[in-house]
Amino acid sequence: MTKGKVYLVGAGPGDPKLLTVYGLECIQISDVIVYDRLVNPKLLDHAKASAELIYCGKLPGKHHLIQEEIHELLVNKSLEGKTVTRLKGGDPCVFGRAGEEAEVLAEHGIEYEIVPGVTAGIAAPAYAGIPVTHREYASSFAIVTGHGRDSKGEDRLNWEALATGIDTIAFYMGVGNLSHICKQLIEHGRPPGTPVAVVEWGTTDRQRTITGKLDTIAHLALAENIQNPALVLVGEVVKLREKIKWYEKVLEAETVLE
Ligand code: SAH
Repeated sequence: MTKGKVYLVGAGPGDPKLLTVYGLECIQISDVIVYDRLVNPKLLDHAKASAELIYCGKLPGKHHLIQEEIHELLVNKSLEGKTVTRLKGGDPCVFGRAGEEAEVLAEHGIEYEIVPGVTAGIAAPAYAGIPVTHREYASSFAIVTGHGRDSKGEDRLNWEALATGIDTIAFYMGVGNLSHICKQLIEHGRPPGTPVAVVEWGTTDRQRTITGKLDTIAHLALAENIQNPALVLVGEVVKLREKIKWYEKVLEAETVLE
């Protein structure tokens, strides 16, 4: 039997219109779609009626499918000759484990493609009116994991480099660790008054944004009960939000129309 093919596809950050044209095509032609928790379920409407839809997102505290089971699933379905889309929130290569999945597929001689997506670290700020670079305020930008601690609780981030060498930093998975992140940046030389934004459910109709400073934001996020998924953005560019925020107006206009 001929082997199938696997498409490792970025679903975009939330707004279903932020899926790429190629990502849409992959969904439309696939026999099997394996999707994560942060994928907007509306995207599954594009699948063939006969497509098998498999949820493998991890619910907090409860593992739905462990990574090895996902690998097995992708391998087995494609060995059956199926066309498979592995749909992941944002971009599949940004904290999305596409690399590991591609390695397994390569080891099994299974054909695959990686289809990039719009990543939350750029899109959530954009929808909050914050450009991650700007000619006057930021000429470098880093994507960083906010829960980068190993089993001993030590984190592996180079805080000094982040605090002093990068203008804008997007922390993914950082909400639960926000006070640690801010403390580390301040201790390693970033001014406590550096602006910070936290964008919850960015690019969706539930988007909420709070802004503060390195020495106030953890407290504010707690007071506002900010939950995952949320993106933490640190840097002077956050100041631009006051002037160029726009998505709130779009949402308001939509509410009036309804
Ligand atoms: N591959 C994804 C990231 C997966 S890690 C991407 O490229 O965007 C999951 C983290 O991404 C979340 O903890 C959160 O920090 C961030 N994230 C994903 N979707 C988000 C959204 N709609 N709004 C804010 N942050 C989001």
